[in-house]
Amino acid sequence: MNDVTLKVEGLKKAYNMGKPNEVQVLHDVSLQVAKGEVVALVAPSGAGKSTLLHIAGLLDSPDGGTVAIGGEDMTKLGDRKRTAVRRNDVGFIYQFHHLLPEFSALENIVLPQLANGIAQADAQAHAIDLLTRVGVETRADHRPAALSGGEQQRVAFCRALANRPKLLLADEPTGNLDPGTSDRVFEALMELVRSSGLSALIATHNLELAGRMDRIVRLDAGLIA
Ligand code: ADP
Ligand code: MG
Repeated sequence: MNDVTLKVEGLKKAYNMGKPNEVQVLHDVSLQVAKGEVVALVAPSGAGKSTLLHIAGLLDSPDGGTVAIGGEDMTKLGDRKRTAVRRNDVGFIYQFHHLLPEFSALENIVLPQLANGIAQADAQAHAIDLLTRVGVETRADHRPAALSGGEQQRVAFCRALANRPKLLLADEPTGNLDPGTSDRVFEALMELVRSSGLSALIATHNLELAGRMDRIVRLDAGLIA
């Protein structure tokens, strides 16, 4: 194992390259997240937080630079291996929960584990443990539509951790919630991350939330300030 869970170096990314509406989002972005470290990615809207997280999570490719997860250069891997790393080692949380509406909270956390070859009983026990840790175990049998916004987001955190990733990437995870709810739901996320020993990169423009993480990294004009 490597002490650096995520290392990105010299990332460049433009949209609509070569066209009149070309926008250079990332100019030269380098950052690291150590094992067990929780880093806040702070920048105003439109600065490239989502772009950076998608590239770090292997959902998009950079125009230049490298992404290493667990010490391994992902830019050198073939598609199949990259997909395997994305599924097994990276958990993603968005502003919106993206839970499957036809399935219960519990099933939403069990299904990704079954897809990964975990036995039903083990998957279920792990899902219940995760739900208990964020305080929504009594809502396990409810579908997402029957849950509050804060509860939906807590379940989405559990789903992101279902396959025991080593890296968590979160894109404004409480951005859709009212301030009071956001505060409590963020606390639940931090406890979940800490008790799992996970490394996390969490985008936010809320400086109060950023202040509760280990370190703040600012993205400004496509560079790390
Ligand atoms: P943030 O998450 O910090 O709000 P984004 O990474 O979403 O910022 O976007 C950074 C910039 O890139 C914005 O100017 C946005 O309009 C632009 N952008 C993002 N995605 C695309 C895309 N698919 N095509 C063109 N421009 C995009
Ligand atoms: Mg964004």
